[in-house]
Amino acid sequence: MSVSDLAFVNTSVPLLSHFTDAQRRELVEGSLVRSCRAGEVVLHGGDEVHFLGVLLEGTIQAFIPATGEADGPLGEIHAGGTFGELALMSGDPAVADLVAVTPCRVLLVPLTLFQTRIMANPGAAQLIAMTVSSRVQLALQDPARAVAVAGRRQGDGELLELKGERPERILVINCGSSSLKYRYFDTEQPDLTVAGQVERIGQPGMRLSQRGAKGELQQDLPGGGFAEAFQAMQAALGHPEAGVLKDRDDRTAVTVVGHRVVHGGEKFSSAMVIDDAVLAEIESLGALAPLHNPVNAAGIREARRVLPGVPHVAVFDTAFHATLPSQAYLYGLPYEYYETKGVRRYGFHGSSHGYVTLAAAQHLRRRPRDLRIISCHLGNGASVCAIDHGRSVDTSMGLTPGEGLLMGTRCGDIDPGVAAHLARTEGMTPEQFDEMLNRRSGLLGLSGVSSDMREVEQGDARALTALKVFCYRVRKYIGAYIAAMGGVDVVLFTAGIGQGSAGVRATALQGLGCMGIVLDEELNRRVVTGAVSPISAPDSPVTVLVVPTDEERMIARETLRVLARDCLVRASDACRHAPVPIEVSAHHIHLSPLDVEALFGPGHQLTKHADLSQPGQYACKEQLTIVGPKGRIERVRVLGPVRKAT
Ligand code: ADP
Repeated sequence: MSVSDLAFVNTSVPLLSHFTDAQRRELVEGSLVRSCRAGEVVLHGGDEVHFLGVLLEGTIQAFIPATGEADGPLGEIHAGGTFGELALMSGDPAVADLVAVTPCRVLLVPLTLFQTRIMANPGAAQLIAMTVSSRVQLALQDPARAVAVAGRRQGDGELLELKGERPERILVINCGSSSLKYRYFDTEQPDLTVAGQVERIGQPGMRLSQRGAKGELQQDLPGGGFAEAFQAMQAALGHPEAGVLKDRDDRTAVTVVGHRVVHGGEKFSSAMVIDDAVLAEIESLGALAPLHNPVNAAGIREARRVLPGVPHVAVFDTAFHATLPSQAYLYGLPYEYYETKGVRRYGFHGSSHGYVTLAAAQHLRRRPRDLRIISCHLGNGASVCAIDHGRSVDTSMGLTPGEGLLMGTRCGDIDPGVAAHLARTEGMTPEQFDEMLNRRSGLLGLSGVSSDMREVEQGDARALTALKVFCYRVRKYIGAYIAAMGGVDVVLFTAGIGQGSAGVRATALQGLGCMGIVLDEELNRRVVTGAVSPISAPDSPVTVLVVPTDEERMIARETLRVLARDCLVRASDACRHAPVPIEVSAHHIHLSPLDVEALFGPGHQLTKHADLSQPGQYACKEQLTIVGPKGRIERVRVLGPVRKAT
């Protein structure tokens, strides 16, 4: 930024007139300057917006993306004007193409500064609101064009694109009991991904396989534990021909590590940057997930040892289901088991259900928040999830991944009385029962053939029965989740069986025409591997899709989101008092007595505004502004009376 740009910002940008010189300098120093030629597109309609644009020099015109310049511009922005406000505040993509009509220079203020500095300044926030309002008015003067603007949805690839506030090279790590799976992503070079795994860790026959844009590797390893597996991974990522890092010790190549962690309990409702306290919590959640969290924690420790200089982020399988309402997550057990032992339903496969939700919405050019989706993740482990306007509202797995559908070797739902019955009649211990439920049941136990659906499909009459039980249970869950959401727009299938077996999909959907789900048998047989494929009949009220899942990409995406949030939290910590942790429901907020006092002053009592239909509950006069990583929600009504927790 030149001295003259700074002088212009100081004198000629109305938005920034509300700041002191020092504040303006801070804003400018934290921003980028971009020059554009006449005719260049400054911002594409449909793009995700990460910056507030301040036009320093030149003129920009806005056009409806679908019709382009044929219909003439929607409006013009001149030097000193701003753009991108609405997209930054709503999290929606840009609605118009912005094209430079003369050579332009633009100051790009990053999202974090927009949220923590500009929107925290009352004068600037008011000006932003007025700008947004006048642009909406302008669009409404021409209803046909307003519809065209409102109808804009994301283009291909945008929802799932890996975009950080700066270029990032992300290593995603997924540690199992005897395996280390990894993926490498570069936000600047989307084609340069690498996927690999080390198998049979701690056993004879340990080996590494890796494939990526530059080539494939297969290596037999001399053996060892996780330390040796990580060493082999680093060597493979730095392999002169097949790797991506400059050499084995090129540690600067990875800028952030995302770790898959199975159980986040109630503690982690979103991904977290890992510090010692977070790692200790992950280990303590081993009580709920003894097979998974201890190995996830061991992987994190090893990764922090070999990549010490970069942030490590934990992405939890359970976090996507943090939005489950209590009616869906509570078991009918004495309440104290929930309160004291955390015995409740948590749900798993969150990264997969989250990814396919975005992929389906993107394919349909709709926003996740406009859809009711039932996602059937049918792999070795299997679960169904009801996703109501982007939020998981029910899912078939519970305290452990053992509940719900029939799986490769797990039984899914059974009568809890079976445990006591087998203990009495067979003398079965809890450990033996656990082993039987998890390793000898499901497709394997019922068919007697295999846990692999491909072999079950080729099997005898008993195997066919196992197949029918599998599909019937999927169908029952679909029906139940239609009831839970009061309807459905999309049913989708994903993971090994969901993507691979036309027979399972057809059997699972049999008879669901009464609920608006009509399969096109031909499309179902001809699903394209690796692509989102519609398989419903053209007149089916509900769209049925096969959606390839990509949990590692979702973990990478969440990792980037956490980095942005962490940066935002650090920035807002620096400029305000202690933040109040909150959980946002659809339209209102409940507060604890302590937080009422923290927000409205000591001794403050909530003031009743209107009664609600639930006895004793009322809307209050008090309203709040909630600030989060995607922006602000203004005028959120507080509901009374006060609650135990905010
Ligand atoms: P995981 O839960 O281990 O990640 P996957 O999603 O990879 O599992 O699914 C693995 C399972 O998918 C296999 O055990 C197999 O039963 C099933 N599968 C894979 N391909 C097909 C196919 N073409 N037809 C039927 N089943 C398949």
